[in-house]
Amino acid sequence: MYTVPKLKSFSAAALDKAVEKLLAALKQEAASAKNEADWKIFRDRWMARKNGVLTEINDLWLKAAPKEAKREVGQRVNELKATVTQTVDKSRPGTATAVSRADLSVKASLGTVVATAAGPDALDITLPGIRRPLGSEHPVIKTMHEIVSVFRNLGYSVQEGPVIETDYYNFEALNFPPNHPARDTQDTLFIAGQEAKPQRERLLLRTHTSPVQIRTMEKMKPPVRIVIPGKVHRNDPPDASHSPMFHQVEGLAVDTNITFCDLKGTLDHAMKALFGSSVKTSFRPSFFPFTEPSAEMMVSCFICGGSGKRGSEPCRPCKQTGWIEILGCGMVDPNVYGFVDYDPRKVSGFAFGMGADRIAILKYGVHDIQLFFNGDVRFLEQFG
Ligand SMILES: [Zn+2]
Repeated sequence: MYTVPKLKSFSAAALDKAVEKLLAALKQEAASAKNEADWKIFRDRWMARKNGVLTEINDLWLKAAPKEAKREVGQRVNELKATVTQTVDKSRPGTATAVSRADLSVKASLGTVVATAAGPDALDITLPGIRRPLGSEHPVIKTMHEIVSVFRNLGYSVQEGPVIETDYYNFEALNFPPNHPARDTQDTLFIAGQEAKPQRERLLLRTHTSPVQIRTMEKMKPPVRIVIPGKVHRNDPPDASHSPMFHQVEGLAVDTNITFCDLKGTLDHAMKALFGSSVKTSFRPSFFPFTEPSAEMMVSCFICGGSGKRGSEPCRPCKQTGWIEILGCGMVDPNVYGFVDYDPRKVSGFAFGMGADRIAILKYGVHDIQLFFNGDVRFLEQFG
């Protein structure tokens, strides 16, 4: 019984020889298929997808062929496929219908076309393609898109700004005066060699996306409703929960008669849209230089449902409290309006900001923020 050999050489002569042997075996086996049952065995032996002769020549000849021989081998394999299909069809006892003949002639002529067109530079479109792996969205980017789309649905527009900022936009205009202790909480990386410049013009890597609030208000009169996704930096050594580079999504709404109720209603809605309609929100007082009053918002733990426990185990993400701190927010400090020429007697507004990486960590149960930035495909492809 014929078996497909591995080829030692892919030269034209070696191919001719191999093809000749294969065709001889085909002819002989076709002739001995006298009844329907024999013919089916014959057909499966040559054409079965799993280990039929055609599949084997594809694997042992075409796939194994060196790059320079691929075209030549591909052409012969295609011709063999046409011949085998034709022979198997023809050898069926008592048949060979008009339909299959027509079918065969189409296949045969396609074979001829391919064979004639395949000059040295021709592209053989019948060769198997090269499979390229599909990428997927990075989990942090995916989370940022989700947060942004919640606010876009509320009518917010998206704004972006420079990652390298001046001291003025990153600190001063946000009500962090020079030497104010709140600057210590946002130590960052400064661009070297700027000692000659006045402090407010010195460049640094922004510590938050808030400078974009100032930049937007400078060029836009109220009402303002914006959401700001972006990359930020802090002078933090990397560990499981810190990274010198991370991502924020920040929002700002300024108009007449905006109150703390609007802030609470908006953020409560957003958290339900992000984490499910059953989450509750809670606010507690906090401090940020650019908002007054300021608050930290917590959501009821969407992992343990607020119970602090998962079965008999303690719930780690909420540290058994049933609440997860998720963002900082507050009413825009009237001092900030002074920097952008808004009249604090006429307008009011709120701002909020959240860490996109932290939310992605919570959503996907990731235990080390570094995994997001190591570029390990084995980690990232789990989110595809
Ligand atoms: Zn919990």
